[in-house]
Amino acid sequence: MIVADRKPFDDIKAMLEGFERILIVGCGECVSVCMVGGEKEVEILASQLRMAAGKEGKKIEIGEATLERQCDREYLELLKDRIDNYDVVVSMACGAGVQFLAEMYDHKVVLPATNTRFIGVTEAEGVWAERCRACSDCVLAETGGICPVTICAKGLLNGPCGGTNDGKCEVDKGKDCAWTLIYNRLNKLGRLDSIREIFPAKKYSVQTRPGRRVHEAFKEKE
Ligand code: SF4
Ligand code: SF4
Repeated sequence: MIVADRKPFDDIKAMLEGFERILIVGCGECVSVCMVGGEKEVEILASQLRMAAGKEGKKIEIGEATLERQCDREYLELLKDRIDNYDVVVSMACGAGVQFLAEMYDHKVVLPATNTRFIGVTEAEGVWAERCRACSDCVLAETGGICPVTICAKGLLNGPCGGTNDGKCEVDKGKDCAWTLIYNRLNKLGRLDSIREIFPAKKYSVQTRPGRRVHEAFKEKE
């Protein structure tokens, strides 16, 4: 899932300076799981903004909505009858959701209330960790299912740097060296031969931005 942080309240408030009718739109998936942009967080932000406006004697009107997902047109369409009642939309989705919302309603100012961090996993309740850089050239088959691009602090593809020490990373001694983890996992799987594989330089040609992928079944309709 995509992991994000909410922007500090003062930053959000500053972005909204001068707007009186504000629609806050949450997303019911990734950012809801990491407790940054779901229904409850929309409610909290709305209350904070109302209280701040009240204190300053300003008149504002705030609408709240939480869509199933903001990266899907069919859910964004649910805003079409409401959006023009507001001067500005604050999206609490990841950057993809914010951009898609802004693209669909391009006559409306759409502002982000989150800082998108990474693609990750839930390690424990309330703890998320990065696992994938979406590099389009996956090496996990040869690295025991541990991604050196993401887990190694330097993103090294062909073994550890000279700073690895007792299995720890030189960049952060509190963290395991990715290449020690890879060695141990391959050893456990009886696949240590894979570690001899030398990866060529990454295929940056497949990482052209922005990425786009059309499923075979839908190519003809394109
Ligand atoms: S808009 Fe972003 S946060 Fe929401 S479901 Fe899509 S990818 Fe996840
Ligand atoms: S010590 Fe290991 S994880 Fe840290 S930068 Fe070097 S190779 Fe990467």
